[in-house]
Parts: sequence; C-alpha cells; structure tokens
Amino acid sequence: MGAFEAALTAGAVEDAAGMFARESFWRDLVAFTWNLTTVENPEGVRELLTATLDTTRPSQFATSEPATEDGGIITAWITFATATGRGIGLVRLKDEDGADKAWTLLTALQELTGFEEPRGTRRPKGAEHGIDKDRLTWKEKRELEGESLGVTTQPYVLVVGGGQGGIAVGARLRQLGVPALVIDKYARPGDQWRGRYKSLCLHDPVWYDHLPYLKFPDNWPVFAPKDKIADWLESYVKVMEVPYWSSTEATSATWSDEAGEWTVEVERDGVPVTLKPTHLVFATGMSGKARVPDVPGVDIFAGEVHHSSRHPGPDAYAGKKAVVIGSNNSAFDICGALWEHGADVTMVQRSSTHIVKSDSLMEYGLGDLYSERALANGVTTEKADLIFASLPYRIMHEFQIPAYQKMAEVDKDFYERLERAGFWLDWGADGSGLFMKYLRRGSGYYIDVGAADLVANGDVKLAHGQIDHLSQDSVVFTDGTSLPADLVVFATGYNSMNGWVADLIDQETADRLGKCWGLGSDTPLDPGPWEGEQRNMWKPTNVTNLWMHGGNLHQSRHYSLYLALQLKARYEGLATPVYALQEVHHTA
Ligand SMILES: Cc1cc2nc3c(=O)[nH]c(=O)nc-3n(C[C@H](O)[C@H](O)[C@H](O)COP(=O)(O)OP(=O)(O)OC[C@H]3O[C@@H](n4cnc5c(N)ncnc54)[C@H](O)[C@@H]3O)c2cc1C
Repeated sequence: MGAFEAALTAGAVEDAAGMFARESFWRDLVAFTWNLTTVENPEGVRELLTATLDTTRPSQFATSEPATEDGGIITAWITFATATGRGIGLVRLKDEDGADKAWTLLTALQELTGFEEPRGTRRPKGAEHGIDKDRLTWKEKRELEGESLGVTTQPYVLVVGGGQGGIAVGARLRQLGVPALVIDKYARPGDQWRGRYKSLCLHDPVWYDHLPYLKFPDNWPVFAPKDKIADWLESYVKVMEVPYWSSTEATSATWSDEAGEWTVEVERDGVPVTLKPTHLVFATGMSGKARVPDVPGVDIFAGEVHHSSRHPGPDAYAGKKAVVIGSNNSAFDICGALWEHGADVTMVQRSSTHIVKSDSLMEYGLGDLYSERALANGVTTEKADLIFASLPYRIMHEFQIPAYQKMAEVDKDFYERLERAGFWLDWGADGSGLFMKYLRRGSGYYIDVGAADLVANGDVKLAHGQIDHLSQDSVVFTDGTSLPADLVVFATGYNSMNGWVADLIDQETADRLGKCWGLGSDTPLDPGPWEGEQRNMWKPTNVTNLWMHGGNLHQSRHYSLYLALQLKARYEGLATPVYALQEVHHTA
C-alpha cells in the first residue's frame, strides 16, 4: 500500500494506474468520487484519479490485518483517510508479468472527520450531572422535538416511505445529527409487512437481514415470519429514535431552484401539512409499485381478482378454484398456502423461472458470508457486506456460476421432477442464478421452501400461456383455452421505482431520473448499455436533491450508510464533487 500511497501523494496518477492489472476494477463507495461507481482497468483508474485526487487527498493507507493468499490471489483489508473522512477497503492482488497488481479494489467511506457518530467511546452520557434549574428530561426533549418538527422546524431530509429502507436511513441520519423526518401512509411502522399475504416468512436468513446498529438477538429465527419482522421494525423506530410520522401520505412534491428546497404536500391523519425539506429521499419500495396487467374483462369477472400485493391469504378460498398468474416467489408462496387451505389451485407460467431450494441457497450461495459458519470463521455481517460489495458487478456472475452449478448437481432430482411436470426452468441468462437476477431485474425466481414440490407432483396444477381476457367465470388464454376460476391472483411483480416519482412529482422528472435498479447487463429486463452500478440507487441522480433508497434488508442496511454520509456531507456544507454522474438510458 505504501507505493500506492506514495504515488497518490506525489500526484503520480500514471504510476498509481500502473499498479492495476490490465483487467481490473476499482469500486468506490463515496470515498473518492462522492458517488457509487466502478471504474475498470488502468485507464479507468487514471481518469478517476485525474478527476478526484486533488480534492480527495488520500493518505494513511494501511493494512488492518495480515493479508491472506488463496489460489494466487492475495487479499488484504485496508484503511485509509481522505480530506473529509476515513475509509475502509479490500484489495485483491494477482501476479501479472511477475509483479503483484491490483485486480479488485474497494474503497468505502465510513465516517466524516469531525462528524463522527456518537457511538462507542463517543456515546452520549445520557444523564446530565450537575445542577440546572431549567433541566429538561430526555422525554421532555423528545416531546418538544416532536412538537416542533415539521411545524416550526423543517427537516433537512424528508424520507418518503417508512419501510425497512426508510427506517434504516432514518436511523443513520439520526445518529449523524441530520434533521430528518420519515413519513409513511400506513398507521404503524411494519404495516408494509403486516399487510402482505399471511403465510409470508422472509426468504433471506437472519444473518443477512440485520438493521444498522441493532442486530437481531441470537435466538431470532433464521427465516422470520412477516408479522415478527413488522414488530421488530416498529420497535426499532422507537429504540433508535427515528423521527417518524405514521398515517402520513405524501401527495405531491415540487422543487424550487430559487429556494433550493422541495415543497412536499402531505396529509397527516387526514390533515394537510406542507413540508420544506432540502433533500427528498424516495424509500417507497422496490416491491411496492404493483405491476397489474391490463386484462379485458376484469369488470365482468364474477369472482375475486387482485394483485399479489393485495392478496389477504388463503382462508376465504377453501374449495374455490384459484388461478395464480405468475411463477415467481409470490406466486409459489400464494399457491402453496391456498393449496394447504383446500383450494383447487392452478399456477399459470408465462415465462421460465429460476428456482433454488432454500437449504441449498443457504449452503452454497450465502453460507460463506452470512451464516453461523461465517461468524465462526470471523466473517461478521459488517465484513460480509464489504466482501460482497468488493466483487465488481462486471464479473460477479463469474463468482456466482459455480455455486449454482453445484446446486443443480445436488438437487438434480428435484429439477428433473419439475421439468417432468412441464415447469420451465432457467438459471439466469448466463447460469449465474438468483443474486444476479435480483440485481439485474429484481424478479424471475423462487427460493423454494416447499411449494415447488406441489407443482412437481401435480397438487398445484400448471398451465402455460398468455391471458387474453377474463370471462364471467374463467381465465381465457390467447390460444382460446380457458380455466374456470373463482379467484384470480396477478402475481405479476412490480414496476420501476421512478413510477413513484411520476406519481408524486411529474412524468418529466421521472424520465429525467430514469429507470431505477438493474446494471445494464443486456439480459432480459435489464437492457444495456452497461452501467457498472445499480441505476439510481443510493447515489446522486440527475434530479437535484432527489435520492432513491430501497432493496432487501442487506442492501437497506449497507447502502443506507453511504446515502446517509452523502446527505450529512451536504448538510455540513462540505464540498461533494460528484465523479461520473450516471447517464440516463431508459425511462422505465
Ligand atoms: C412478497 C415479498 C417477499 C419479500 N421477501 C423479502 C425477504 O425475505 N427479504 C428481504 O430482504 N426482502 C424481501 N422482499 C423485498 C423487499 O425487501 C421488501 O419489499 C421490503 O419491504 C422493501 O423495503 P422498502 O422499505 O424498500 O419498501 P417497502 O417496505 O415497500 O416500504 C415502502 C413504504 O413506502 C410507503 N409509501 C409509498 N408511497 C408513499 C407516499 N406517497 N406517502 C407515504 N408513504 C408512502 C408505503 O406505505 C410503504 O410502507 C420481499 C418483497 C415481497 C413483495
């Protein structure tokens, strides 16, 4: 690291770039670029450093633990400082032409100098020893703060959406001392999970799901039931003192260049309130904007029809004929629960689905990073997040493919049975499986917790085709065939988050922002060109002072840090020159 630092200190960009392998990747999370961005190869490094070195002034590079070597790759954890903060990183070196060259480098800002969080040795005292006639208790201060927020004082950041995403960034902003407010239209934090179909349990395991600061206790179930997660989120809001308005819906937002602030109209318990934040964060949910196909005949269909996000659960449908359109996670969960409650269930598969058995995914996909095994090997959640973040998106599929090949091998029987039942299977466009599908398109898979067997053995019937229309009592397909139905569930997924922006601001702004999520991998539902990072998530966008936040619990936990640091820096008036602001290639 010494030579790298010396080159950077001397401004010797060419020398520093020369320390990278011909094929190499540098992923920076806010430390050098005030952006989430990945550059490739010595040319990319040269450009990044030319643009950022003067303002970043990196120093104090050191390895924080002994480097390790595996299969010719040397891996080292590093720490470093910049003009504004302290960072952590992970570098992998490989031999090229007889010299160790950087193959991957992650640099991630962790805190801003002078604005460190009050934790550990900096934790607040709580009690105020001494004598003070005007003493206010913690409770009184909290009440005063609550009364003034949004009335006489304005939040610097307004977070619209108080699911796990909004709550996580709200907690971080609180710790960083940034005046913020999280609002949600539901009556209680956690209601976004309470409202989902009743059989739902998390598909991801506990080690992957922790929120910032406060981990689940070690008796927490591996796959938490949805209502348990909901209660945890509600408690978390309280314990972490997240400023949170429930039953508050944002109805419109407009930006003023002149005033340098947003005007956001909200209805709090039905009463109109105008808020004037400087920054607006949409944490309205990646799986929140239901994609409902426009199917003729919905109005004449005599039975019940709803999107999976509105599916109440199976109780009312015993003995009924249920047709579930779709063959991904929600479809399988819903089909399984309906079958358990005595409904006659048909799943309609429109395109192929990637299925992995939950146990196999835990063992081969996640186990090295997020499991008791990982913890025993010293891979804490924090380390796991950084290791995962250090794998460049461009080559991530190469790391994933072997894990899915292994799953295909150990669960060969299972897949053969599904195929014999006529189920269309896939392994992602390049065999890279579930995570890449998630990162690229956020859909197209089922983590099997049992319902796949129902399809394999015919208990849940399987149909293929595209729906043409609904008649009074059936689903009619484009080939003229039909299925009688009392219940139709559209488990048809969710739309890009910029749809929320169109709803709340306007279509022009939504288009200027562009599509959210995806990498530009040029695989189904993730059109090119290559973007290198997830579009618009957690980083500066083409709309002034507008930010997008969301994803699964892992992403909410990890990336809320970088979003919060970017907002804190702006709140403190630090210079935040953004390198490589993304271009917009798609509007939806
Ligand atoms: C069936 C299902 C299963 C899932 N399983 C998992 C899992 O196992 N693990 C995992 O990590 N993820 C899972 N996810 C994906 C994702 O993590 C969740 O959808 C999660 O709820 C996302 O959190 P979020 O905070 O980004 O959005 P959400 O939880 O969707 O929260 C968005 C919030 O925004 C609010 N909102 C929207 N518009 C407004 C407005 N105008 N004004 C005020 N409030 C507004 C909504 O009321 C909502 O509460 C699952 C998703 C679904 C649908």
